[in-house]
Amino acid sequence: MYAIKDALRATLREIDDAGLTKHERELTSPQSAHVTTESAAALNFCANNYLGLADHPDVITAARDALQEWGFGMASVRFICGTQSQHRDLERQIAQFVGTEDSILFSSCFDANGGIFEALFGAGDAIISDELNHASLIDGIRLSKAARLRYKNADMADLRGQLEAARGDGADRLVIVTDGVFSMDGYYAPLDAICDLADEFNAMVMVDDSHAVGFVGEGGRGTHELKGVLGRVDILTGTLGKALGGASGGYVAAHQEIVDLLRQRARPYLFSNAVAPSVVAGSSKAIELAATSNDGRRQLRANSALFRELMTQQGFELLPGSHPITPVMFPGADGARVAAQMADAMLARGVYVIAFSFPVVPKGKARIRVQLSAAHSEDDVRACVQAFVDARAEI
Ligand SMILES: *Cc1c(COP(=O)(O)O)cnc(C)c1O
Repeated sequence: MYAIKDALRATLREIDDAGLTKHERELTSPQSAHVTTESAAALNFCANNYLGLADHPDVITAARDALQEWGFGMASVRFICGTQSQHRDLERQIAQFVGTEDSILFSSCFDANGGIFEALFGAGDAIISDELNHASLIDGIRLSKAARLRYKNADMADLRGQLEAARGDGADRLVIVTDGVFSMDGYYAPLDAICDLADEFNAMVMVDDSHAVGFVGEGGRGTHELKGVLGRVDILTGTLGKALGGASGGYVAAHQEIVDLLRQRARPYLFSNAVAPSVVAGSSKAIELAATSNDGRRQLRANSALFRELMTQQGFELLPGSHPITPVMFPGADGARVAAQMADAMLARGVYVIAFSFPVVPKGKARIRVQLSAAHSEDDVRACVQAFVDARAEI
């Protein structure tokens, strides 16, 4: 063990020497637009709390009531004795919201993506995946015995080439897999073009809409709504851990047969505990709020547009787009250092943002990824822009 500990310490040192150690900043408050850390109060611009539901009073009340009514834990997987009627109600509610026949809950979207490919696609099938897809999709695809093909990010010519290759190899089932929103850029996948190609090649379409469900599209149904392909995506996965309350849990929403088969075959579903009752109730309330009111989405869009406008006025370089993920770019060889210094200087001014650099994003494309929320006020957005301006002046 001493030799192993030495080796592990050496690996940790390598990670640190490469500047890649992730330090966890401990919050001393609930998740919200305004948070506190051990050292200071801060405006939070790096949460996935897009609709501000993480500490919404109605969500908290629903979760607290559920503790009383439904207990703390299930102490069982779903198929033994871990299914309460509210689990099935939530699954139907998710399906109705995103527009599929049914859905199935997992402990996380990571688990949903980890369980789906092995269950649905085997030897003789082909999985065609965007190169920028989330780590959980990549891992899930590796667990399947299907052929694995990758296409360049959102590149429809390359996707066509991969589909032709898969058909040429005589693949049986074809599935195109993409994130709905690419989280480092805030770019939407071209689902309209993807669905057209899928029709042409008789392929299925699977979209991980974790960074979209609840707020993208007019009714917040997701990227498929935004791109006008409601009803044309075969499989949607998503998380309850971002806009929809931000607690935990994930789902696969799809055709009935797919959901039914996953209940029999998806290993993270079969062999992992049921989602906790209070999380089910709180998430259900969050979806109800997202489904029945446009107020959060309106505020989120206004905040995102205001931030883009003010930052552009101040001469910052942003990636184009409309998603509340707003990358502020620090290009060039020096960018990684500048972005990191900017983030530190902004935190000293009470604005919490995170800098990303290689290998998370390509070399020379360092950025601060700002994430707007409906919980931010206009003053909060202005304070964030001012912190960017002041930090730039200091550096
Ligand atoms: C956040 C995220 C996940 C993971 O969701 P969890 O429920 O936290 O496991 C999966 N896919 C994408 C695209 C995500 O952004």
